[in-house]
Amino acid sequence: YAAKTSKARFRRYAVELDDRADEEARLGAEMRAALDTGQFHLVYQPIVSLPDGEIRYVESLVRWTHPVRGFVSPAEFIPVAERNGLIVELGEWILRVACTQFMSWLETYGENAPSKISVNVSARQLAEPGFVPVVADALAASGMDPDCLIVEVTETAVFGGGVAVRAVEELHRLGVRIALDDFGTGHSSLTLLQTVPVDVLKVDKSFVDTITEAGRHAVIATALIQVSDGLGLTAVAEGVETAEQAAVLFELGYRYAQGYHFGRPVEEPAFRVAGVAAL
Ligand code: C2E
Ligand code: MG
Ligand code: MG
Ligand code: MG
Repeated sequence: YAAKTSKARFRRYAVELDDRADEEARLGAEMRAALDTGQFHLVYQPIVSLPDGEIRYVESLVRWTHPVRGFVSPAEFIPVAERNGLIVELGEWILRVACTQFMSWLETYGENAPSKISVNVSARQLAEPGFVPVVADALAASGMDPDCLIVEVTETAVFGGGVAVRAVEELHRLGVRIALDDFGTGHSSLTLLQTVPVDVLKVDKSFVDTITEAGRHAVIATALIQVSDGLGLTAVAEGVETAEQAAVLFELGYRYAQGYHFGRPVEEPAFRVAGVAAL
């Protein structure tokens, strides 16, 4: 009897896996079509200074509006694009749109424009031999200054060293800034901060969530700002949702933050600050 149920359970499991593979293949094919028919667009979320909440720069985030499915989260489709390789083409498109948008804001807002723009880059993109030339070309084609671009990579993407780290080093030599995204959640190692040229530490939302309660996360958030300051990096606290969190972060020494409390990702953030200081 036990063998029978386990067999049935296995069959159910196999069917589930099959369904998942089908769904993944479907989503992959639909993304291909989406790229060709312009279903992707970018939104931009402000990174603000503390405590004043003024916009310093923006992070670009990709959005997919599927004609039938509607909104599909990047948390769902980016991993699929990484597995099927489409992230390379999608990523190049994202990079070019972000650079062009940045230059158009510079023209429209002048000194009120964001000082920089960041673009998320996945492990698969970094491993692609043509990646650095694509970045260089996106900058040249848009006329954008390389030090206005921040490339966000995860700890996990650069953890193994190798091609990914060399790409990051080359970008850095071009003048592009490097941010470690979701810091503290991946293959965290402080050694990374010695082996990879890092300019910005994005302290993950999970440390910010409970920062108003004295506990482990508050302790870690405190340690991370000390490491960041000590190494001369810029720390950005991610996922700040309340005024209380912002106040505690400021007290701990954080000077940059990002989160719904200050602004959600939108197509056109409200740039109105005069004389935006350099990051
Ligand atoms: P991420 O790079 O860490 O981006 C931050 C995510 O947190 C975004 O989700 C943003 O909308 C969300 N967020 C910001 N503030 C708050 C807050 O206060 N509360 C909460 N609950 N969430 C907040 P999004 O846009 O859904 O993106 C999810 C992830 O998908 C990104 O995490 C990034 O890893 C990936 N992704 C998004 N756009 C791109 C892209 O253009 N290229 C690549 N390669 N990955 C991308
Ligand atoms: Mg990011
Ligand atoms: Mg992040
Ligand atoms: Mg995050």
